[in-house]
Amino acid sequence: MLQRTAQLFRIRVTSQMQSALTNAPDDPVAAQFLPTSQELTGDGLSDPIGDNAHAPVPGLTHRYPDRVILHVTKTCDVYCRFCFRRETVGETGPLAPQQLDAALDYIAATSTIREVILTGGDPLTLSLRRLHMVLTRLDALNHVQMVRFHTRVPVVAPDRITPELVELLASLRMTAWMVIHTNHAQELTPPARKALRLMADAGIPLLSQSVLLRKINDSHDALQDLFTTLSALRVKPYYLHHCDLARGAGHFRTTIAAGRALMQGLRGPLPGHCLPTYVLDIPGGFGKVPVTADHFTEISPGRWRVTDWQGAAHDYLDPED
Ligand SMILES: *Cc1c(COP(=O)(O)O)cnc(C)c1O
Ligand code: SF4
Repeated sequence: MLQRTAQLFRIRVTSQMQSALTNAPDDPVAAQFLPTSQELTGDGLSDPIGDNAHAPVPGLTHRYPDRVILHVTKTCDVYCRFCFRRETVGETGPLAPQQLDAALDYIAATSTIREVILTGGDPLTLSLRRLHMVLTRLDALNHVQMVRFHTRVPVVAPDRITPELVELLASLRMTAWMVIHTNHAQELTPPARKALRLMADAGIPLLSQSVLLRKINDSHDALQDLFTTLSALRVKPYYLHHCDLARGAGHFRTTIAAGRALMQGLRGPLPGHCLPTYVLDIPGGFGKVPVTADHFTEISPGRWRVTDWQGAAHDYLDPED
C-alpha cells in the first residue's frame, strides 16, 4: 500500500523534521510528512486552487492586477501529504531559462504589478547564486515594489537561512517579505527559531501561513500554541487556509463550521496580532476569500454558497463525515 502511495505522490523529509517527529500516535509532524494508505482513497482535484486558470506564460499566475505568483522551482525540501500542488511539486527543478525570461518579460511589460510572489515548490530551495540572479533582475524593474517569498524552508531546512542569504534580501531596493509556512508549534525547533531570529534582526518582515489540518492542528490548544509562539518569534500569523481539495488529501479536511468555531474560540483569549485571517481558496482559480458570513451562506448542511472577491457565487461542499 505504501509503495503504491509512493508511486502516486513524492516523499521527502528533512533531517530537521525527522528530529522533530515522535512515535506518538497522531504525531502532528509525522502526519504531515509520512505517507499513509489513506492517500489512495477519495477524490480531489489535480489543480485545486486553479494555478493554471490565470497563467499568461508558463510558471506565472496572474489573478489579481497588482501581484503575480512566479513559480521559480518545483522542488521542495519536504513533500507535505496535504499539498495543494502535490501533483506537480518535484516534477522538475528550477524554471527553465527561457521560461524565466518570458515571465520576467511579462512582469517588465506589466506596470500594474507591484508585488512578485515567489513560490514553487519552495523558492528557498534555489541556490544562492540562482536567487541572486532572479532577485537582481526583479530589482531592476522599478514598478516592482515588493518581492514576497512563500516558503517552508526556514522551518524544515533552517540551515539554508545563512547570513549571506539574509544579507542579499536586506540589500534589495524592493522590500522582501517572508511568509513562513508552518502548521504546528512542534515544527518550530531551536534551529528554526534561530533562522527566524536572523531574518527578523535584519529587518525582514515575517508572516506565517498555516493549513487547518484534521488531527494535526484542528484544536483550540494546537492553534493557540502555534499562533502565540509565532507572534513571540516576531512572525505575524497571516493566513489560516482551509484545506484544499488536493487528490488523496481528503482525510485532512475539516468542515467549514469546525474551522469557524475554532477561530471564534481564539478571538478574545488571544490578542489580535496572533490571529490570522481564516481563508478558503475557491476551487477553480477564483481566489481566496475570508471564511466569514459576508462570503459564506449555508444552503443546506455542509453545502455552501461562496461569493468571490469579484462578487460571483460558487458552490462549495464540506467533506463527508
Ligand atoms: C494567494 C494568491 C496571491 C496572494 O494573495 P494575498 O491575499 O495577497 O496573500 C496572489 N495571487 C494568487 C494567484 C494567489 O493564489
Ligand atoms: S512545502 Fe509547500 S509546495 Fe512543497 S510540498 Fe509542502 S505544501 Fe507543497
